Amino acid sequence: MQIQIGNVTVHHILGESFRADGGGHFGLVPKVLWERISDTDEFNRVDMVFHGWLIESHGRRILVDTGHGTKLDDKFKGHFAVEKEDRLLINLAALGFAPEDIDIVINTHLHADHCGGNTRRQDDRIVATFPNAEYWVQRLEYADALFPNERTRATYLAENFRPLEDEDSGQLRLLYGDTRVTPEVRCVVTRGHTRAHQCVVIESGEQTAICLGDLAPWVVHFERLAWVPAYDVEPMETIETKRRVRDWVLETGAILLFDHDPRMAAGVLHEQDGRFKVEPVSA
Ligand SMILES: [Zn+2]
Repeated sequence: MQIQIGNVTVHHILGESFRADGGGHFGLVPKVLWERISDTDEFNRVDMVFHGWLIESHGRRILVDTGHGTKLDDKFKGHFAVEKEDRLLINLAALGFAPEDIDIVINTHLHADHCGGNTRRQDDRIVATFPNAEYWVQRLEYADALFPNERTRATYLAENFRPLEDEDSGQLRLLYGDTRVTPEVRCVVTRGHTRAHQCVVIESGEQTAICLGDLAPWVVHFERLAWVPAYDVEPMETIETKRRVRDWVLETGAILLFDHDPRMAAGVLHEQDGRFKVEPVSA
């Protein structure tokens, strides 16, 4: 799928499939409500995918998030039933993009399912997957990832971001809050899932779009403010951030670009009688 936002071309790049614990994914929402939306397997896991977004703006090729990547060990793959972890690169290649062609990688945050593909194994070394790219990460997110605690340790894996800081790589760029990428693309801090989670906003001509990252991993998380994953470190902040972003989306008609919903990658928000519904967009 390819979406045109004014002068900006956005490519949907389907990445790996995996499964996540339903309780983690829906937080306080009782299973009797969320099981209407998704089946579970014998371990109470729901189907997930990773949607990568490649943005072409002002001659720059910008990849938003990189999925789990290909460095996973068997234990991790088993827990999360990760499959087709090389599909992001295969689908990029199918569109004619080599890893060398990517100018900027933006990580919405540094959880393993969003930045694992930042790096790859080459012989006994871990190197940048995208050798010519700068990797843009919020400074506060980087600090939280470098110094994880008991709650965040399992998902902040240094091999996904630390090698980018090394002298022979030097590809890491830390952002101090909202940052413009091109005249049509900007990073906006959207606190809640993590303290410095960021979304990517595209504005060109009269059209807008937003890569939501894990602000709302599935469509239903955007339709219902109270549906917040248990993984969010600041759930009350997530709700207020979603309220603010939702108001802006209603105002601008922005296209919503999701990271994990297996049923819908891109959608448009509609409001009727105080209820919110996201309808899919195709090309
Ligand atoms: Zn995620």
